Amino acid sequence: MQRPWIVLKFGGTSVASAERWAVIAARARELLPSSRVWIVASALAGVSDKLEQAVREALAGRAPEALAWIVERHRALAGELGVDRARYEPVAEVLADVERRLEGVRLAEEAPPRLVARIMAAGELASTRLGLAALAGQGVAARWVDARELLASESHPGDPAESRFLSARVAPRHDPAPAEVVAGGADIVLTQGFIARTPGGDTCLLGRGGSDTSATLFAALLGAAEVEIWTDVPGMFTTDPRAVPSARLIRRLGYREAQELAASGAKVLHPGCLASVAWAGIPLGIRCTPHPELEGTRIEAAIEDHPVVTAVTCRKSVALVTISTVAMWEAPGFLARAFAPFAEQGISIDLVATSESAVSVT
Ligand code: ADP
Ligand code: ASP
Ligand code: MG
Repeated sequence: MQRPWIVLKFGGTSVASAERWAVIAARARELLPSSRVWIVASALAGVSDKLEQAVREALAGRAPEALAWIVERHRALAGELGVDRARYEPVAEVLADVERRLEGVRLAEEAPPRLVARIMAAGELASTRLGLAALAGQGVAARWVDARELLASESHPGDPAESRFLSARVAPRHDPAPAEVVAGGADIVLTQGFIARTPGGDTCLLGRGGSDTSATLFAALLGAAEVEIWTDVPGMFTTDPRAVPSARLIRRLGYREAQELAASGAKVLHPGCLASVAWAGIPLGIRCTPHPELEGTRIEAAIEDHPVVTAVTCRKSVALVTISTVAMWEAPGFLARAFAPFAEQGISIDLVATSESAVSVT
């Protein structure tokens, strides 16, 4: 009987220093006797923002200054980790490739979503190439896997290119065989969050913050025993602990409540990540990379329906549309007609309030 997989996801700040890579290596070693370890890594903190900035700079015809920051950031971490030139080569190749693509944007004066996805993917491709060297330096032999070989988005030909390439959806499924093939018998795999492939074989993204969703998709695919989301706070709090220092840690939560919190602004989890674990019944832990000794938050099916207010969340940049009319009274199908144009424009509605003369949506 093979040992079960445990999926560990490390966010941007959790992969950004030699000290953090030591925690990653230690956690993998700790789990190895009883499990196999599937590590999903984000881009180094700040890199995805800088890649977006580099695209904007290239579009404006300027030399992408943000790219210089990204190159320097990877070089600095490689230096801190003591990665030699030969082991750094795959990182340098990813960064040289993105430079060529940005030059293409500058010359063509356009950045189609398909190309933007390819450019943004460089963040996770580079961090995992560097991570492989970091783990090797810690005496941990991992196998590098390209996430696009295993995660394929759904095909909706009518969808706008932005959603197909930049916030694609991948349906959860259980299919360990291809994953075992790419893992090639390794006990430790290192792969990218955030990226997948379209049905046409192009690179696509799962939306900003989407690495959590990659982790749970991999967990469902592998039939993993558990997912751990390692980040910069010790779990899900009663509100954002950076905004409200007195916020309290929530030790245990059900999937549905976690979904409500993530979707309404508790950024510690990407709202797309709970569907896969709820579907597969896999427990999800939130753990703190700077404090690996803390237990964090555990999310699983058994703990639904809290009788109290669990947490308070906050979201910015929300649009509220109110449709007021007296023509709504006893008009069958009114709401279906009111909502149809949103669907046609590819806009998803979050909250709805209705009265007899108005419908408000966010
Ligand atoms: P990562 O890069 O590891 O994915 P994120 O920045 O995406 O990390 O998510 C972690 C951040 O989520 C925390 O630094 C915290 O400020 C924010 N956050 C917002 N709401 C909550 C909450 N209710 N509980 C915990 N963290 C929250
Ligand atoms: N690197 C991506 C982002 O910053 C994905 C992630 O970190 O979850 O949006
Ligand atoms: Mg995140």
